[in-house]
Amino acid sequence: MSLIERDKKHLWHPLTQHQLQADFLPIIKAKGALLYDENGNSYIDGIASWYTSMYGHCNDYVLAKVTEQMQQLDQIVFAGFTHQPAIKLSEALIEILPDNHQKIFFSDNGSTANEVALKMAIQYHHNRGHKRQTIVAFENAFHGDTFGAMSASGLSVYNGPFADYFIEVKRIAVPNKDNINEVLTQLKSIFADYQVAAFIYEPLVQGANAMHMYEAQYLDMILAQCKQANIISIADEVMTGFGKTGKNFASDFMQNKPDIMCLSKSLTAGFVPMAITTCTKKVYQAFLSDSVAKAFFHAHTYTANPIACAAALAGLTLLKSTEIQSNICMIIAAHQDFDKKIKQLPIYNSTVAASRQLGVIYALDLKIKMQRYGQKRSQIYDFFMRKGVCLRPLGKTIYIVPPYVIKADELKQIYAAIIDLLTSNSKA
Ligand SMILES: *Cc1c(COP(=O)(O)O)cnc(C)c1O
Repeated sequence: MSLIERDKKHLWHPLTQHQLQADFLPIIKAKGALLYDENGNSYIDGIASWYTSMYGHCNDYVLAKVTEQMQQLDQIVFAGFTHQPAIKLSEALIEILPDNHQKIFFSDNGSTANEVALKMAIQYHHNRGHKRQTIVAFENAFHGDTFGAMSASGLSVYNGPFADYFIEVKRIAVPNKDNINEVLTQLKSIFADYQVAAFIYEPLVQGANAMHMYEAQYLDMILAQCKQANIISIADEVMTGFGKTGKNFASDFMQNKPDIMCLSKSLTAGFVPMAITTCTKKVYQAFLSDSVAKAFFHAHTYTANPIACAAALAGLTLLKSTEIQSNICMIIAAHQDFDKKIKQLPIYNSTVAASRQLGVIYALDLKIKMQRYGQKRSQIYDFFMRKGVCLRPLGKTIYIVPPYVIKADELKQIYAAIIDLLTSNSKA
């Protein structure tokens, strides 16, 4: 039996209606920006496997560091013990985090990083004698698939069956130059009417919301208002973290720094799952007490797994390297050139509704009506795969978040595939 047939016997894939979708392509190997199937075909990983493998697949340096760690210490309970990989990682991370961040708390994935953040914020107020249970979040936000994270997410396609069981969330629009005053007024009245614990947001780019981008100056105004009202601000940098915006973190673009930050995805260089929730001294101090009950009672079995910490530490070393930093600049410039180029194409106006870029993140909306996971979307996905390019359109939005190690000619292949798609759309 082929891998495709064996897959069907027992496996249940995420985000999949199995009655409608039949086959999954087995990938047997990956290196750098390339994925390989059983038949030796290669595909350029244009989204770095959901923004995880930013230093390239099976990166030799990360591989060496992880292998070394595996032979030394594999796993140890982090309640009661500590170890060098976690200590070194905390030191390296604090160095690049916003200045006000002092403490790092481990968990397993982006959803749990946000879950931890929400619990931290609620207990921060609780420990100071205030009952605050309302969370403020953006419309069309995505923060993950656990209950707290789902509650904060505004993309209802995913969450319908569970909506009755969510924690209380009040939603504000993502700001822009036209609505910012309205948003600030609305925020003020939410703060007056509800016991708000925290404001959670994806800074500058809402990944799952078709790479919607918004301006730092408006987010800064919202954060300033949160600060004034002593509302804990939580930056979900699970997608935007570690260089994708052109700075280490999207939060580096704002004057007002978050109280809590959530990190995952490329944190571990795409090797193993892990997440980190960081916070300020102010947040941490609210948990210090003679009373055990004021401690933060949240733990996952694999908290601060040494192998994951070693992968993360290697990733940070790479991120700081001149090689990766210059590659990031190369990709940013290449995206800009591509954007200029397609805007000059005769088919541009009839096929493209809008395009946008922040750092290595580039997105383009097609001028067609379609559903997020409809048939047309599958056709576009297949079109790119036939051209040896792996992109996962979000509805009518095509986006690129390439690994930093992608080569200039591989980027060109992605751009060429997009132009081919536009050309074929203009004929259709
Ligand atoms: C992917 C993502 C999450 C969820 O992370 P998981 O590891 O899939 O649980 C949360 N927030 C943002 C912004 C994300 O991109």
